[in-house]
Amino acid sequence: MAEYEDRYPNNTPGAFYVDDQCIDCDMCRLNAPDFFTRDDEGAHSFVHRQPLSEDEVKLCLEAVDGCPVEAIGSDGPTEEIGGKNHCRLPDFVRQ
Ligand code: SF4
Repeated sequence: MAEYEDRYPNNTPGAFYVDDQCIDCDMCRLNAPDFFTRDDEGAHSFVHRQPLSEDEVKLCLEAVDGCPVEAIGSDGPTEEIGGKNHCRLPDFVRQ
């Protein structure tokens, strides 16, 4: 299970993040490239854009389920994050 405290610092703030368990397998980047990209220097993925619509959230949740080492979390804080990258995870995800 991904741990918010172990997330990479280059994740865009919001609900979704990649933590230091990532094995750079490329799965999330292939399936959801609008949200996951590669840190070439660190050889791992990170979230470069948070999802905003229900469809986008579903794509990210599929990436969570598809990660072979459970390195993607969806429980990052959203309420206290302001600015252009603010992402309020829809309530249906929290249920
Ligand atoms: S699917 Fe998981 S292990 Fe693979 S690149 Fe993405 S975060 Fe890393």
